[in-house]
Amino acid sequence: MEVLLHEDLAALSDLDEQSLLESLSQRFRQDRIYTYIGDILVAINPFKYLPLYEKEVSESYKYHEKTKLPPHIFAVADRAYQSMLGRLATGPRNQCIVISGESGAGKTESTKLLLRQIMELCRANSQLEQQILQVNPLLEAFGNAQTVMNDNSSRFGKYIQLRFHNSSVKGAKINEYLLEKSRVVHQDEGERNFHIFYCMLAGISPEDKDMYGLLDPTQYRYLNGRYGSEDIVRKWGEKYSEVCNAMDMVGFEEQEKVDMMTILAGILSLGNIMFEPTETDALRVTDKSMGWLKATAGQFGVQEEELLRSLTCTLSVMRGEAIRRLHNQQQAEDARDSIAKVAYGRVFGWIVSKVNELLAPNVDFDVELSEIGILDIFGFENFAVNRFEQLCINLANEQLQYFFNHHIFLMEQNEYKEEGIEWESISFKDNKPILDLFLTKPIGILSLLDEQSAFPQASDRDFVDKLNSKFKSSPHYEVVRSHSPLFTVVHYAGKVQYNGLGFLEKNRDTIPASIRSLFINSVTPLLSLLFAATISRTGTLMPRKAKLMQKADDNFNSTRKQSVGAQFKHSLAVLMEKMFVASPHFVRCIKPNGSKLPDQVDNKIVMDQLRYNGLLETIRIRRDGFSWRPSFKEFAQRFNILLIKPDLPLTKESCMSILNTTEIHGWKCGSSRMFFKYWHQEELARLLERLGKA
Ligand code: ATP
Ligand code: MG
Repeated sequence: MEVLLHEDLAALSDLDEQSLLESLSQRFRQDRIYTYIGDILVAINPFKYLPLYEKEVSESYKYHEKTKLPPHIFAVADRAYQSMLGRLATGPRNQCIVISGESGAGKTESTKLLLRQIMELCRANSQLEQQILQVNPLLEAFGNAQTVMNDNSSRFGKYIQLRFHNSSVKGAKINEYLLEKSRVVHQDEGERNFHIFYCMLAGISPEDKDMYGLLDPTQYRYLNGRYGSEDIVRKWGEKYSEVCNAMDMVGFEEQEKVDMMTILAGILSLGNIMFEPTETDALRVTDKSMGWLKATAGQFGVQEEELLRSLTCTLSVMRGEAIRRLHNQQQAEDARDSIAKVAYGRVFGWIVSKVNELLAPNVDFDVELSEIGILDIFGFENFAVNRFEQLCINLANEQLQYFFNHHIFLMEQNEYKEEGIEWESISFKDNKPILDLFLTKPIGILSLLDEQSAFPQASDRDFVDKLNSKFKSSPHYEVVRSHSPLFTVVHYAGKVQYNGLGFLEKNRDTIPASIRSLFINSVTPLLSLLFAATISRTGTLMPRKAKLMQKADDNFNSTRKQSVGAQFKHSLAVLMEKMFVASPHFVRCIKPNGSKLPDQVDNKIVMDQLRYNGLLETIRIRRDGFSWRPSFKEFAQRFNILLIKPDLPLTKESCMSILNTTEIHGWKCGSSRMFFKYWHQEELARLLERLGKA
């Protein structure tokens, strides 16, 4: 019992914030980074190598008994897999593992460990297994970057769905959410561009370097002229061969890889094109960057004049007449940067869809597949300056917290009431009002943003003024008095001040028609393909009426989305729909300190995370609550064997007589189902197993 007390906090009878913190950090100091709260796993990032993931460990957690081994991420993999096979509890066959935590807390590492262990469990056919395991390194190279919070920070969210037929894996599918494209053209102090640029520059052979037209890394403005020490460069070089290897394994073709690298080289050259005004008010490319213009055109496989034109002027059609408007310097620079962002974003999107094509299950239509999904999205963010991207990221975290609360608190307590189970209700911080602040139609933050984005003349200030006037009395919103368009949202995890500058533009995310046609005409097959794909967003802003019609349309036709906010909201809704009908498993990652250091616990930082994660309330409900609630029929069907009476009627009375033959205590009986504590499930499974062995 002593061991159990430590390893499962739900078994502690007396617990407050302080002792919770103490228990976790005590364990952490002994390198016990995993702890259970009932069926929830808490994982504290060790920031150092621990011998926890070796082959023997992996073996020992296969089909193990939970209480016999220390808490572990492999145990979560095991439970998800067994539940999918229907070996553990009753409930939906599809599983989802939700991993949450701040940036740097260890979500992506946990995801990789889970994938690895699940592949071990199903003894996948080796090629598919290798393909699936290579997806992560590939996506990380293109979608992760060094930030102040994390040297390998995911700059996109992902939901990996593993598809199974019976016990064997048949394929996988990735959904990606909101790649932070702006990083391609700008990085804050102490941060870097996406890994792939540095890897490519460090790992490429001299011949290929010539072929792609790559120069010395310090020359590129999009890399901030920063590169790294010899040691770091060597590591990037190694990573480059890993990425190339991953692409081969997953099944990318040689020509596709070459095209991809050429486009990346083009993006780097593009960033070096600078403009200056001429005496006649027109704009020209500086003498110094003429070479970059030429290089970019060559790498993108487009005409130099056409590229120049799309950088220096906008073509619009008014009353049937084409009108060319010359850019000023700022507009030209913006055009340059948006070409870079859109090209990179399309490459990333293409990689994901290619992976999905290559890993799609190769089975007949009528074969029923079950699924384990793993959600690894960007953690809650609060920087010195918070932009549109942070708003979306934090909204996703609100949604996840809501999902967690819903499962752990709402569903459970509602059911007690309905089933007439005696229960003293546990209060928790319900973040539904904050979600509503974002998502309500027609006056949530995202709807107001869409409304303002539809006015070509509206400014970011107008948008924030609108927010201020609508939400000034909301407890989750604060007006900020400032010349800049600032506003504050009181999130479940704390207050975040957003800077509204750029919100409208980022939400519209329009690509001028001239840029599209530029790329469609590219001689680089991949580039032309990326832009030929149907894009519902048009280059020019739609008039308000058309926009409104489209909005109405969106309610019915979910594939036609135009604004980034609306698309994001839609993909979150689709994700939630999936998750709400699956059996969830939660992994809560905790960052022990803000300096990425091993063996150090910063009490305040950890306590903040425990608080906003609602872990104390979670412990109470897991300790006192009944997390497993099979119907009478489900229960009797599965456990009648304990009575050795296979023709037992599937009723309440049968359930009770089955249980009365066991030594299990503390369960309750509702009006339509049984109520068990989470450990009852394991005890019953053990009884069945013993019977099977006997
Ligand atoms: P973000 O939201 O920024 O993507 P994250 O939660 O995905 O953050 P990770 O990238 O998983 O964070 O972890 C950050 C770093 O912490 C890793 O690069 C690794 O160095 C270390 N780390 C995380 N988990 C472990 C672990 N189990 N063992 C050893 N080191 C770990
Ligand atoms: Mg990550």
